[in-house]
Amino acid sequence: MSTLLVKDADVVITMDDQRTVLKNAGLHVRGNVIEMIGPTSELPSVADTVIDATGLALLPGLVNTHHHMFQSLFRAVPGAQDHGLFDWLVRLLPIYGEITNEAVHTSALTAMAELILSGCTTSSDHLYIFPNDAGLDAQIEAAETIGLRFHATRGAMSLGRSSGGLPSDDVVEDEDDILADCQRLIEQYHDPQPLSMIRLGVAPCTPFMVTKDLMRTTAELARSYSNVGMHTHVGETMDEVVYCEREFGQRPAEYMEELGWLGQDVWWAHSIFLSQSEIEMMAESGTGAAHCPSSNMRLGSGISPVREMRDAGVNVGLGVDGSASNDTGHLFREARNAVLLQRVKSGAGSFTVEEGLDIATLGGSAVLGRQDEIGSLEVGKAADFIGVDLHTISMAGGAVHDPVAALILCDIDRVDLSVINGRTVVRDRQLLTIDVDDLVAKHNKIATDLVSRHPNPERYKLV
Ligand SMILES: [Zn+2]
Repeated sequence: MSTLLVKDADVVITMDDQRTVLKNAGLHVRGNVIEMIGPTSELPSVADTVIDATGLALLPGLVNTHHHMFQSLFRAVPGAQDHGLFDWLVRLLPIYGEITNEAVHTSALTAMAELILSGCTTSSDHLYIFPNDAGLDAQIEAAETIGLRFHATRGAMSLGRSSGGLPSDDVVEDEDDILADCQRLIEQYHDPQPLSMIRLGVAPCTPFMVTKDLMRTTAELARSYSNVGMHTHVGETMDEVVYCEREFGQRPAEYMEELGWLGQDVWWAHSIFLSQSEIEMMAESGTGAAHCPSSNMRLGSGISPVREMRDAGVNVGLGVDGSASNDTGHLFREARNAVLLQRVKSGAGSFTVEEGLDIATLGGSAVLGRQDEIGSLEVGKAADFIGVDLHTISMAGGAVHDPVAALILCDIDRVDLSVINGRTVVRDRQLLTIDVDDLVAKHNKIATDLVSRHPNPERYKLV
């Protein structure tokens, strides 16, 4: 197996149990596994590939636990810029109904490129709409091309407007077809082995966009395999709590429990409107939370009780959420926003800078059930790490005092280095696996075409 030596980093931030930070240090990798970590003087002096990391902080790659990558085509869409979740969906769902397989593939590459350049080495995605020839296979192919460790989740909507749902009937699917496609995808792509690059999950869009029956059957299907995850949105808006209490006489977490959607293999996106007893249900069952602060601010949804969840022992990871409700997919900035937003809610001392880095790395790995493989730099773990330049203008006067804190408090435009599963994906701030300029040109062409079919009736004229 080939070897990789990354040496002379200013600091190596391991995120191990002792939160060890090493100076003038590096890593030695064999294949896709970290073999040694330590001061450069104690590492082997030769390897098949040697990277000089002078000036960089090395740290574990960040983990993104919630996204809708196809929405990278629909950022800043007129008519969906200043609305809460419901009106935002009403404007965008018809546009989502235009996507094709090529749109899914191209937008996935764009979202993954943006994530990788912002420090992410493992991401999940939640694709829940399959009009035209769109398929989840295109995303998996994109992840393999670009080199991202990927948890693809097969989403679904089955309750159309004629059944009292929000989406129009032409974009919802038959539940037998959904279940069959989930099974096909798991059997074709899911790799349950340690250090696997592709894992699958089942992911009805929300518990209210499908029937109870589909929630139960997808859970049974997932649990008939090893390491298949279960993901959906829970507690994103107060409207959802009101709906749940009115229709079912239950709080959202109680409803999820009835459907079999609590457990270590389950993670919920957002989890904003949860009571203390619901938080305790999450903690006791091992259900994880994907916290998406930028999206929650953008849609004015609310502030997730991350402090309370972490205090109760809930695994909390970060999510950039779909690009139509975030407009960026920058994971370091998401970590910064997570810290700042908790402080808006509960005061400056309520959430430390170190916790921001914690949820971005260890938290995300636990949410995806991969705490033994990723999230920290330790011997035997995956060779997934990033290098951040500590000598940029935005780091000036910050990293010299505390490089760990500067990663969260100062601004990082993009990483200098990213190694994923032992493969160098970014070096000298450039993505090595795809041509970004060509990708952006193609992406913009598709985005323009799809949105132009649904002009905003309220749009003011630019003269
Ligand atoms: Zn979402």
